[in-house]
Amino acid sequence: MQSYSEGMRLQGKRLAFVPTMGYFHEGHLNLMKEAKKMADYLIVSIYVNPSQFGPKEDLSKYPRDFDRDLRMAQSVDVDVIFYPSDKEMYPENYQTYVNVEEVTKNLCGLSRPGHFRGVTTVCAKLFNIIKPHVAVFGKKDFQQFIAIKRMVADLNLDLQIVGLPTVRETDGMAMSSRNVYLKENEKPSALMLVHSLKLAQKLYAGGERNASVILSEAKKIITSVPYTDIDYIKICDTKTLTDIDEIADEAVIAVAVKVGKTRLIDNHVFGEKLYS
Ligand code: AMP
Repeated sequence: MQSYSEGMRLQGKRLAFVPTMGYFHEGHLNLMKEAKKMADYLIVSIYVNPSQFGPKEDLSKYPRDFDRDLRMAQSVDVDVIFYPSDKEMYPENYQTYVNVEEVTKNLCGLSRPGHFRGVTTVCAKLFNIIKPHVAVFGKKDFQQFIAIKRMVADLNLDLQIVGLPTVRETDGMAMSSRNVYLKENEKPSALMLVHSLKLAQKLYAGGERNASVILSEAKKIITSVPYTDIDYIKICDTKTLTDIDEIADEAVIAVAVKVGKTRLIDNHVFGEKLYS
């Protein structure tokens, strides 16, 4: 992979990269289509990274279908699929990790200790293997996007990070590989994540800026249905990802809910500035 990329770079070609864990949906395909427009060649990695899963999480059950992913990737003109094994990524005696300290503390960092350390480590490795000029991420995983941008800035990594909006089903639900876990009777409850965000947007549009007012109304929507167990629902500053009481500048409302056994996340940015 490194010599392919080096060869392309020597020819003056621009490389775009989309890291994924596979089991593609339209959200992934949209990242690929957009990434392809930014470069001459598009590389997509498919790797279910063990170091970002906790011991009680769904690593072994995470959905996988390489042949289906390959067909879908071909349909959007992906040039290279990088599909490494665990042995290649974490050989015996592996012991080096990247930790972004502050922006990973809150939100998913609280309920998934070690998760972001795994994410930033695997992304740092993939960036060094693939040598892209630009890497494209979804803002559906907002904290991940912020942590990656922080790592790239802090470690002077020589690539651009682009974040793209969340792709949703027609009913508004954020697309996710984990949606396949949802049972039929849990789906209406899962839809309450986006409904709670929509209510928050409505309150914000009406001038409400008090975080606890918005959060308590949003929470009611989620708790009013069965099978939901809120992990968190918070309003945070988009740069620091610390909780805020009043929305003054750009802020994110982020929600994580267990619906049955499936943990889902979603978010909305208030007062979004045009930056990626
Ligand atoms: P994953 O395979 O879930 O690790 O996701 C790979 C990339 O796709 C990450 O940058 C995610 O943020 C992004 N992604 C996942 N779901 C969506 C979605 N519904 N809309 C946009 N991007 C997404």
